[in-house]
Amino acid sequence: MPWETSHAPRQHELDACVTCGLCLPKCPTFRLTGSESASPRGRLAAMSAVASDIAIVDSRFDEIMSFCLQCRACEPVCPSVVPFGRAMEGARAETAAQLPHRARKLRALLLGPNGLGSRAAVRVATLLAAVGQRLRLDKLPVRLMTRISGLRRIPLAPQSHLGVLRSSVGERIGSIGLLAGCVQDSWFGGVNDAAVELLARAGYDVHVPTGQTCCGALAAHDGAVAGAESLAAINAAAFSEYDLVVATAAGCSAHLAGYSEWTQSGAAVEDRARDITVVIADAIAAGRLPTLPPRNQEVAIQDPCHLRHAQRIINEPRAIVRAAGYVPVEIDPDGMCCGAAGIYVLTNPETSDELGNKKADQVRASGATLVASANPGCEMQLRTNLGTAYEVKHPIEIYADALRSSYRAAGA
Ligand code: SF4
Ligand code: SF4
Repeated sequence: MPWETSHAPRQHELDACVTCGLCLPKCPTFRLTGSESASPRGRLAAMSAVASDIAIVDSRFDEIMSFCLQCRACEPVCPSVVPFGRAMEGARAETAAQLPHRARKLRALLLGPNGLGSRAAVRVATLLAAVGQRLRLDKLPVRLMTRISGLRRIPLAPQSHLGVLRSSVGERIGSIGLLAGCVQDSWFGGVNDAAVELLARAGYDVHVPTGQTCCGALAAHDGAVAGAESLAAINAAAFSEYDLVVATAAGCSAHLAGYSEWTQSGAAVEDRARDITVVIADAIAAGRLPTLPPRNQEVAIQDPCHLRHAQRIINEPRAIVRAAGYVPVEIDPDGMCCGAAGIYVLTNPETSDELGNKKADQVRASGATLVASANPGCEMQLRTNLGTAYEVKHPIEIYADALRSSYRAAGA
């Protein structure tokens, strides 16, 4: 048997590829290298070779799969609807199972229930990052440290949203269980503040259940199957009773939308999973949240891959920014990956930096100094590459700030 796990690339996924090559120009790693093995078609061919016993899962296979950003830009253009992201997660599960080297085992630990899934571990990481910011450790020539410069200012004792219960304002539409996110809650707390406030104003009872944990996306992307399954099972139980399950990070909402791969009760989560941008844009369109007066300031729109390519959510962030009174500005018609891509920023630093610099150049060319990004990893990458002259916020934060200003101005 060439494959060892139940998540391995499935024959129907591989057979779906008709090798047309339409995905190649959309693939960032193919565009950078021009190499077939760095393209979606090449990667699927490598998986098919293993599935047919022509090749094995070896270091070359690992190299080909590890270079993929898992951005899924190849999916929307594929006429055969190849589920590339799913197949790639399967390939990563296989490399993790068949080539279990020390770094991979360490990553599985850090990304699993005892790492990102552990509140104590996240608290320690948060404290270290907050102290690192104050000691200016981002100036050290160590990659993990330089990434601190992409973080917002982290309080030494950040407030947790876990346990928050907020009743709907006005007519009740339904209930929402909010996924706080592993580092999202401590490192990007303003996004969850805005989410709770806006969802309640939009007519939802909002609860951030304490029984939840990290969504498991990073574990799944790295092939850490046991960790991804365990985290998904915990969340499926924690979010069983709400009308909708909402995530404020694009990577998390995309992962929730594929939960049936990771836990038996995942289908029930998939059906109710929404990205926050969809719920807020719907509320604005329905008049349950107001459209604010124009303010003649431009906002550059950065499309996180797991919003644009994985979930095909394109209009909603723009609609939210527009409703806040700003003028959304396009920076990249292809929505190319910014290079953050979860832990890719650490595992493939050169390619990540190349893509990060390209994205920063696109923002600079737009002339806007405020950037809307709906994913924490992208936000960090943008801030690291743009520097302090630019502000990067989640679209719902931009809207919530504008709404608060309008209420203050009205004396409400
Ligand atoms: S677009 Fe789809 S069918 Fe065509 S080569 Fe790419 S993955 Fe295969
Ligand atoms: S997921 Fe992204 S990097 Fe990977 S093959 Fe598809 S387009 Fe290329």
